[in-house]
Amino acid sequence: MRVRFPAALAAAILLLPAACATAPAPGETASDPSGARWAIVIHGGAGTISRDLPAERKQAYVAGLRAALRTGTEALAAGEPALAVVEKVVRQLEDDPLFNAGRGAVYTSEGRHELDAAIMDGRDLSAGAVAAVTTVRHPITLARLVMTETPHVLLVGEGAEAFADQTGVERVRNEFFDTPFRREAWERARQQEGEDRDTVGCVVLDTAGNLAAATSTGGLTNKRFGRVGDVPIVGAGTYADNRTAALSGTGRGEEFIRHNVTAAISHRMRLLGESLEQAAQHVIHRTLQPEDGGVIGVDARGNVAMVFNSTGMYRGTADSAGRFEVAIWEDVEE
Ligand code: ASP
Repeated sequence: MRVRFPAALAAAILLLPAACATAPAPGETASDPSGARWAIVIHGGAGTISRDLPAERKQAYVAGLRAALRTGTEALAAGEPALAVVEKVVRQLEDDPLFNAGRGAVYTSEGRHELDAAIMDGRDLSAGAVAAVTTVRHPITLARLVMTETPHVLLVGEGAEAFADQTGVERVRNEFFDTPFRREAWERARQQEGEDRDTVGCVVLDTAGNLAAATSTGGLTNKRFGRVGDVPIVGAGTYADNRTAALSGTGRGEEFIRHNVTAAISHRMRLLGESLEQAAQHVIHRTLQPEDGGVIGVDARGNVAMVFNSTGMYRGTADSAGRFEVAIWEDVEE
């Protein structure tokens, strides 16, 4: 269900003097009367999401997406900076057992969980990431500390976990991430019956005009231990540049790494002058293959993109003009 543009707000905009009322160009969102425009997009993974998804489960996904979107919306409306907002929203999704990130992560071939995450600041291209961590409750928080507290971009495995202890980041036993649903999916994957993946991501334009992106995942079900996907590889699954867009991908990580998906979208915008939508459409539909996955993005003007070549992508978007919607399949607004 779409939250309607509040009538009082619409009336207030109509009453603004003509000089102040800048009409949005087609495809753009209008700014709010204070001029403090913000926008947010989230995803909870893309893949073969059956339209026969049991109603209860579908409702649970919609509720989880809505709750995360609400958290981000409130933080942005309160003027919180982009980096803080993407971290906060992704932490919430990491704690939601429905999504393949943090609690609810998929199982490796060994029956354990290995998590990847990355965060990026569009102001100066600073970035932080962790890969193959097994005991960190909120990998996105550790990724942010890699960015702010070390001269490095990516820490892996034991080194990342030692760094978690040094910085006071919460560690849990690996079983903390277990869920019966993902265990069943792992059992099916071991019988070669389908793939199970997903990821969570959040991209934001804040009221100061800055962009940030964050992505977190358990990776692919039944992956080899030690396998690292696209999520913590800056430019593959995660990217943010104030000059272009903040982007977060989800799908077959190896393809996202090969084609440098999020950086490619940003580069097309900067070097070819394409819009966010054009660049995302090109890379998802012409560079990648069907069923590879999707991407979410927001640019510095608040335009958003949610493009995927799979059956569905759990996603949601909200902005300062009153838009608030979540969806799973093409053209379906929940
Ligand atoms: N991209 C993730 C990975 O390959 C999985 C996903 O987004 O579904 O690790």
